[in-house]
Amino acid sequence: MAHKNIVVVGAGVAGLTTALLLSRDERYSITVAAKHMPGDYDIEYASPWAGADYLPVSVRGTDAAQWDRRTWEYLQDLAENHLDAGVHFQKLILLLACKQQIRQKDWEAREKPSLPDIWWKDMLPDFKDTTNSELELGFASCSFTSVCINTAIYLPWLLSQCLKAGVHLKRAVFTHISDAAAPCVHHSGQQADLLIHCTGLSARNLGGIEDNTLFPIRGQLVIVRNSPGGNYSIVDGQRQSDEVTYMMTRAAGGGTILGGCTQKNNWDSQPDPTRRLALRIMKRCIDVCPDLTDGKGIENLDIIRHAVGLRPARENGARVEKEKIGDIWVVHNYGHGGAGYQSSYGCAEAAVALVNEVL
Ligand code: FAD
Repeated sequence: MAHKNIVVVGAGVAGLTTALLLSRDERYSITVAAKHMPGDYDIEYASPWAGADYLPVSVRGTDAAQWDRRTWEYLQDLAENHLDAGVHFQKLILLLACKQQIRQKDWEAREKPSLPDIWWKDMLPDFKDTTNSELELGFASCSFTSVCINTAIYLPWLLSQCLKAGVHLKRAVFTHISDAAAPCVHHSGQQADLLIHCTGLSARNLGGIEDNTLFPIRGQLVIVRNSPGGNYSIVDGQRQSDEVTYMMTRAAGGGTILGGCTQKNNWDSQPDPTRRLALRIMKRCIDVCPDLTDGKGIENLDIIRHAVGLRPARENGARVEKEKIGDIWVVHNYGHGGAGYQSSYGCAEAAVALVNEVL
């Protein structure tokens, strides 16, 4: 059978998932070439910093919703059948209106909060509209079974699945996407027949791509040893300017993630030096989940580390497309913003379909 040589540029969740799904087709001989690999922590590498949970933000009827829907099937299978992947089921409690604010106003006179249109409510197990019921009066809220991905385990797991499937991995830094097609890159020593492009935010500056619609959405986190005492996460979907509140416990001793913020166009790689943002994050998380420190306040949080990552956002959403650049076909899979894990398998499937079209 004639083999086709494919080079995947990028070893984040997008590149590795695409390589893994491609490897299921024996016709493809695959090398992943990247500047950063699982195990690295760098501001140019978004994947290790993610929480990560499954909470779709895509709009009903869009490609993004379809990618999220497909991905849930894979994540569910991982949580059920592949404990070594570091993905576990977790009850997610989503709050959409803040109790405090509603109480300060006249609760009786106010229009009661209600849930918006949620396309995935029939897909995720145990979905319950808990508005004004299970939780205290004043929240529009729901709860359902989601997953939490311990990215420190999951990325190496993805990489090892690729290795098992015969994918080769190597370090390389490209200044132009076409350079990845050179014979010295693919492990066969031959020219690539096709490139998969998964460089995330770096696609802004990569020659041949230079996508200036990409921008960072900075996220700052505090990772603590405390646990809420049960297997659940809380996301307070109500924004306070560019700050949000979420708490999720990672599988297999990964600690609890406290977040966060969504600071657009902020490239700062360091946690704020005054720790004011970190303090606000910890305080808000304790407000929504006092059980984290048994009601003893933020002084009893046991911090593992502060962290910052940049979500690779794109004005028109993620790009999964094919394009001929010079004389080489390139399949793009980048620009996933804050949804790179929860859309990973759906996007990778779409990328594989484009590869099949081209080759
Ligand atoms: P990256 O992980 O950035 O990987 C890019 C790859 O390309 C790297 O290997 C890099 O070395 C390589 N590369 C770049 N330029 C070059 C070059 N010139 N030459 C060679 N190689 C190159 N998503 C969720 O689904 N759920 C969540 O709960 C969630 N929470 C998040 C919280 C935070 C704080 C952050 C920062 C992100 C979160 N995300 C979440 C988003 C998710 O992490 C990203 O969407 C995803 O990691 C993007 O993956 P990627 O593979 O596209 O890019």
